[in-house]
Amino acid sequence: MSNSRDETPSLDEAPILHVDLDAFFASVEILDDPSLRGKPVCVGGAAQRGVIASASYEARRHGVRSAMPSVVARRLCPELIILPGRFGRYEEYSRRFHRLIDDLTPEFEPLGLDEAFADLRSLRRLGIRPLDAARDLRARIRDELSLECGVGLGRNKLFAKLASKEAKPQILDGRLVDGDGVLWVSPGLERTWLSELPVRALWGVGPQGAKKLHQLGLRWVRDLAKVDEATLARHLGAAMAATLVAYARGEDERVVMTQRELKSLGHDETFAVSLTTSDQVLAHCRHHAGVVARALRSHALVARTISVVLRFDDLDSLSRSQTLSFGVDDEAALSALAQALVRGVTIDRPVRLLGLYATSFLERTRNQVQLSFEMETPTTDRQRAVDESRDHQVSAAALRDAVDDIRRRYGPGSVGVAADLDSQGLRVERQRGSHAFGPERPAT
Ligand SMILES: [Mg+2]
Repeated sequence: MSNSRDETPSLDEAPILHVDLDAFFASVEILDDPSLRGKPVCVGGAAQRGVIASASYEARRHGVRSAMPSVVARRLCPELIILPGRFGRYEEYSRRFHRLIDDLTPEFEPLGLDEAFADLRSLRRLGIRPLDAARDLRARIRDELSLECGVGLGRNKLFAKLASKEAKPQILDGRLVDGDGVLWVSPGLERTWLSELPVRALWGVGPQGAKKLHQLGLRWVRDLAKVDEATLARHLGAAMAATLVAYARGEDERVVMTQRELKSLGHDETFAVSLTTSDQVLAHCRHHAGVVARALRSHALVARTISVVLRFDDLDSLSRSQTLSFGVDDEAALSALAQALVRGVTIDRPVRLLGLYATSFLERTRNQVQLSFEMETPTTDRQRAVDESRDHQVSAAALRDAVDDIRRRYGPGSVGVAADLDSQGLRVERQRGSHAFGPERPAT
């Protein structure tokens, strides 16, 4: 892959930054115990069924990777040192890492302990250029935390994250090759980058997803760009298909959400008297949906992932979530989805806490959504009414698909929810640029 070291993008060309610390857990262990330096060090489970969580580059030279069973890792590298992990210590480093990003801009979204996205557009009035911001951040992380990282810049989250990965050191034929540290995917290179990437490199494609795609003959992102979305939806579900087809075109509408904003877009409640029946939990879902829907609309956002969390009196908790091929900000839709998720759970113990969370945000772009239905502007009230009713129809069908999906995943307990939808004034938005779904999508 080529890179664009010598070009200097403007904020409009590279508004999104992604930073990812190298071998984070293992690096912190080596910092705290310098005698480990240069040795193959991992953090993970050393027991029979343990898994590697983080591997130093020295360990990676032997083929050791995170998520690999420790047994396999030891076979590859018999002298491998596997440490149990000290999460309190990693959290300390993570807080210091977040503070450095916060110094650059408060508009950042932490992703786990060692990654973050930042929206650099807030730097416009300071006259700071993206590449300078990225290089400064990397230098401060090195100077003040003694940690290495890759920083990527791009037009959207998709490209920023791909770039940070490419900016890191790589192992080639057992040799460690330095990366560029900071990388920007220029518009001219976007297409080349995407076409050369394996599907596995895309956000959301895990080992299982990759296997499925391979079985369909889709190995490369360029293959995805040619595939029919409706066909893909039959194999992967509508949400995943829409996401992957958009990514293959270089489109990613996800916005950077600060932690404060993320917190405000969920609602949970610990009950004074625990709930004991399914009906009580369902009723509270409706209430929670109203709170979350209002928060979403006040941020002009729609959410593609809806999660519910239940905590029981014995403090055991469980969560269920569903990702959609469209974004919602509507109380009735949120409520229907939350209830479908809850119906898949057996309420066999008193429920102490119920949480409803919205994530995977898109900016609400009402006009673009209207345009994506048909390239015409409603001129009369009558026309507008016709458009809105069509909008409603498509939305209800899409929502029914999503509820069906939940039922497939979480069992027949969630049956019957779709029937609740018809009478309600649903407002479900399509992702900009996404293909047809709902009535136009063949039945699966
Ligand atoms: Mg990392």
